[in-house]
Amino acid sequence: MILEIENLNKTYSNGVQALKDVSLTIKTGMFGLLGQNGAGKSTLMRTVATLQDADSGTIRFDGIDVAKEPGKLREVLGYLPQEFGVYPTATAMELLTHIADMKGITHAGERKDQVEAIIKKVNLWEARSKKLGGYSGGMKQRFGIAQALLGNPRLIIVDEPTAGLDPMERNRFYNLLSEIGENTVVILSTHIVEDVSTLCNQMAIIGKGEVLLTGKPGEIEAGLNERVWEKQIEKHELQDYEDTMNVISSRFHLGKLMITVVADDLPDGNFWSKAPSLEDAYFNVLYNERSNLAATVMA
Ligand code: ADP
Repeated sequence: MILEIENLNKTYSNGVQALKDVSLTIKTGMFGLLGQNGAGKSTLMRTVATLQDADSGTIRFDGIDVAKEPGKLREVLGYLPQEFGVYPTATAMELLTHIADMKGITHAGERKDQVEAIIKKVNLWEARSKKLGGYSGGMKQRFGIAQALLGNPRLIIVDEPTAGLDPMERNRFYNLLSEIGENTVVILSTHIVEDVSTLCNQMAIIGKGEVLLTGKPGEIEAGLNERVWEKQIEKHELQDYEDTMNVISSRFHLGKLMITVVADDLPDGNFWSKAPSLEDAYFNVLYNERSNLAATVMA
């Protein structure tokens, strides 16, 4: 099973070009689509989920041409949108039963079995008869995953699922997602690096509607081997370092500023070498994107 996105373009009526020639090949397993707010992730996810059209390009999944056969795609799709509203007065049991019905699981016994199995899977069994309006953010997200999993989809899209979850809820959500079947294509769209490093075996970084990098997280990290350096500096020194070095990130650590620099050689004797993390690789891609943009503006 494979999802093939080729040369997808989308410009909104306000002139924003949200997708620029996006091409991605996504195989079974967990695929992370990482990008900042406004990068074009939701536009891409909604297009794959048949909720909006691209201006040009094609999307194929397992023999289905998504633009030409949206109904067929919906039969195999599980989708958790970024904004997932629930009917506050319905219980989990009621709403899942209704959604299962709409997904074509019309046999009452089969529907009950599936709904109950999924509620247990997402750990909401105890709360199955509570009104959804009283659910916490984490419970709502787990309910969202439950509705996406109904009907055994082969393509699952989750858009920004962990934004707004506390660390415990996020962990539970990770565990749940990592249990999803191996014969499924799962796309996780997120601006949180940890989501991708924890869960995904393939990934892409997207920025301003363009695919900036694709690969396995480990390979992407390894691309920076022996090129990441750290140093503790005073806050007022930051500008100097930014003017002379590729400072990809800076953060406060015990009252001092810690900067991370990418360079082929040790920048100066007070830096120390650091094993690259996925976050470093991501910041480096964003840094290069900003530099390219600045160079274009100046030219
Ligand atoms: P992300 O999901 O990565 O935050 P989006 O796909 O939501 O990115 O947005 C990509 C760009 O397209 C942004 O600049 C956003 O403001 C713009 N955009 C998104 N939806 C619309 C829309 N319906 N009309 C106009 N512009 C939009």
